[in-house]
Amino acid sequence: MKYRPKLFVISAPSGAGKTTLVKSLIKRNKNIEYSISYTTRAPRKNEKNGIDYFFVTVNEFNKLKNKNEFIEFAEVFKNFYATSKRQIKDIIENGNHVVLEIDWQGAQQVRNSMPECVSIFIMPPSQSILRQRLESRETDDQSTISLRAHEAKEDMTHWSEFDYCVINDDLITAKEELESIFLEKNNSNSTKNAKLIKKIHKILYR
Ligand code: 5GP
Repeated sequence: MKYRPKLFVISAPSGAGKTTLVKSLIKRNKNIEYSISYTTRAPRKNEKNGIDYFFVTVNEFNKLKNKNEFIEFAEVFKNFYATSKRQIKDIIENGNHVVLEIDWQGAQQVRNSMPECVSIFIMPPSQSILRQRLESRETDDQSTISLRAHEAKEDMTHWSEFDYCVINDDLITAKEELESIFLEKNNSNSTKNAKLIKKIHKILYR
């Protein structure tokens, strides 16, 4: 095996730009693979089964859960989501690093079962920008947008449970910061960094 595979757990409130950042990381680093999650959510326009998610019924989801196929699972926005152990195993056997793009509840479970994982929280620059991003997506209806904005506030309070936090203010900088964490070149995003803590408190409580 070429690399000692690592497990990266990336979480963010909806609308923080996590998917764009993770896609860019994977594009630039061919040795990182994204683990495709299972979900009971209906596919959005342009989403494909087996590429964006494995879309399953609640019944199918529960069957897999009962067979102990998941490393973590959670209910998010009234749908179920889970990471399959098999996906992680396959990626590691390919000699690649694994990226999980999951919510904070799932991240807690993964940290408990695999404490050696590297966990990263992505923060929007402000709560109003997060709302604008949710509105501009045009993939969700108004009630879903409101639910997601409300949940986002709760999600953000979990940032300090993570090893690193990246504020997605400027996309290029955020991409570089995420990559430097992956390449172990930068410690300034550590959630123990006083300057970063101050910035995050402004986002959360102003
Ligand atoms: P979306 O429906 O917008 O694709 O995702 C909604 C939320 O579910 C996001 O916060 C996303 O990170 C989270 N999510 C996606 N896949 C998983 C998973 O496998 N496990 C957990 N716990 N959360 C997930």
